[in-house]
Amino acid sequence: MMTDEVRVRFAPSPTGYLHVGGARSALFNYLFAKRHRGTFILRIEDTDRNRFIEEAMREIYESLKWLGITWDEGPETEGSCGPYIQSERLEQYRTHAELLAAKGHAYRCFCSPERLATIRGEQEKKKGKLGYDGFCRTLSDREIQSRLASGMPYVIRFKIPSGRCVRFNDLIRGTIEYRSDLLDDFVLLKTDGYPTYHLANVVDDHLMRISHVLRGDEWIASTPRHVLLYEAFGWSPPSFAHLPIILSSNGGKLSKRKGAASVMDYKRAGYLPEALFNFLALLGWAPGEDREKMNPDEMIASFSIEQISPKASVFDEKKLEWMNGLYMAERPVASLTGEVVPLLREKGWLDETAPLDTRYIEKMVLLLRERSKRLSDLVAAAHYFFIDPVAYDEKAEKKYFPAEAADHLLLLDLGMRNCPDFTRNSLEELFRKLAESKGIPAGTLIHPARLAVSGVSFGPGLFELLETLGRERVLRRIENAVAHIRKKATARPTVHER
Ligand code: GLU
Repeated sequence: MMTDEVRVRFAPSPTGYLHVGGARSALFNYLFAKRHRGTFILRIEDTDRNRFIEEAMREIYESLKWLGITWDEGPETEGSCGPYIQSERLEQYRTHAELLAAKGHAYRCFCSPERLATIRGEQEKKKGKLGYDGFCRTLSDREIQSRLASGMPYVIRFKIPSGRCVRFNDLIRGTIEYRSDLLDDFVLLKTDGYPTYHLANVVDDHLMRISHVLRGDEWIASTPRHVLLYEAFGWSPPSFAHLPIILSSNGGKLSKRKGAASVMDYKRAGYLPEALFNFLALLGWAPGEDREKMNPDEMIASFSIEQISPKASVFDEKKLEWMNGLYMAERPVASLTGEVVPLLREKGWLDETAPLDTRYIEKMVLLLRERSKRLSDLVAAAHYFFIDPVAYDEKAEKKYFPAEAADHLLLLDLGMRNCPDFTRNSLEELFRKLAESKGIPAGTLIHPARLAVSGVSFGPGLFELLETLGRERVLRRIENAVAHIRKKATARPTVHER
């Protein structure tokens, strides 16, 4: 019996990592549930034992939690309809398959894999309808009993009614009709006692009182089978909504081959969960008024299935990057620092024997985040905040480290040593004054100084950078650069030596 209560589920099969398409389905279910103060359920569909991957199950939980898609009922949280892992519910499926058989909607099939292969071969040759030919549909009771007595393995198949037009309403695509004659008597229960996807999915959606099924449109061809199953059980089906396919920006299906495709890949690539959450929500859903950047509460408040387009949506990496940049800029610096520290640790740039200098890392994050779209960009630019340059960018060195740069750097060294405070303003004043007194442009001091302290010719504003690096680090690096320039100058062959 259907009530007005919204109960939805995300039902992944742990056969691999959670890809962004799956995460989008989970997210739409989540938003829909929250919008209607309903219940979001996580159910693990692990009945295909050949493809089951233990690690994948953990990764599904981890990915959903990282994204902030928490489930009200499911593994780890439980609830009144559990267990929520299908391999722990096998008894339910057997009972229900037997029930259908008793009602005359299903039958035992003893056909061997060899026979099935032979009929398939013949069907392919004739280019006719593929699928089971219904041989065991008409076995007599005696034939069945003797096969059972001799211990022959069997499956239970669903008896597809012939000549029917199976009709259902899809909340995104409208009415869908399917001729039952195109379907074959599919398996409900396999010889190993495990149910097929179709049986377990329908039984659980019913027992878990699912009101709406929101899933990827690759499942749309399964829905007529499900509708017939609901009918055979005498249950009313949930509402269905099949979400549009996601294409990669260069066309074709999204795949690992075409870049990152799993949620955890995006985490590793330096995206923030709130940015991916927002971006995924817009894959197929248009909240209207060109709204794009929205927080979860805003999304929940305006989410509706009517605004989901049946057209394919495109996974535009550039847009995700842009959106991530917005979220990077808005994250409180302490929290962003919390994300960055483990990445710096991974690089081995932190002195693990000393207490963590959070203030220093926070200042660095403030300087670098404006130029970073992802955490990984930030970390890629962070090297010289921890490691003194041992080499300098070759092109920049040619330009900014001529022999006389050593004198300029020494001049700066002296000035900075005596500079009363090491703040961006006093440093800027010092640079300007020194340049003026020498009658040179400020750039003649600024460029070599930047190269000396960072090893590269780009980055945040120099005076902020110097202030952040601090006097001790800066002076040490300036002196190293002076030594480097001098060494190079003496090593340079002169015309006389030739
Ligand atoms: N187990 C199916 C999957 O892996 C679930 C499909 C559905 O939601 O019905 O996506």
